[in-house]
Amino acid sequence: MPFFRPSIFRTECEQCDRQFPVNTGGVCDQCKRILCSEHLHGSITRRIAIALGAPMRCVKCRAGQPVDVVKAGR
Ligand SMILES: [Zn+2]
Ligand SMILES: [Zn+2]
Repeated sequence: MPFFRPSIFRTECEQCDRQFPVNTGGVCDQCKRILCSEHLHGSITRRIAIALGAPMRCVKCRAGQPVDVVKAGR
């Protein structure tokens, strides 16, 4: 069954609603949102920092923006 992919290996980013393989993104430590690599890490250097032990915080949390404000689009 080469085309079968269990849904547990793919999930949706809560910010952009795109599906992504879970191993490329993750859950933010601070806001607990499930995010794709683009919205969780933002850059490849950040991904490397997390791999080296930095806290897994999303782009918005690191920018100091409250998530409620972000979701309201203001
Ligand atoms: Zn995203
Ligand atoms: Zn966050």
